[in-house]
Amino acid sequence: MQIRYYERRGTRFTCADCGWTGLGSELEQGEVFAEIVEWDCPHCGRKVAFAQFPDLDETRRAAEGGNRDAQAALEDWPRNR
Ligand SMILES: [Zn+2]
Repeated sequence: MQIRYYERRGTRFTCADCGWTGLGSELEQGEVFAEIVEWDCPHCGRKVAFAQFPDLDETRRAAEGGNRDAQAALEDWPRNR
């Protein structure tokens, strides 16, 4: 399922293959493309979630909302893109 990049850690996912359920923070990072990053089930490796890489506006909004990943990304911007 598609999610917003910074909402992954606190979102709960269920794997359609093996039934694993857990938080996005427990997912394994999967393939990384130019525009998209995928996360896989930590139990069976099936793709569970993907998100577009956030732009600067989205990162700023998430950082202002208290998201620590966004705050860290903002400090490094644009080097870590
Ligand atoms: Zn699974």
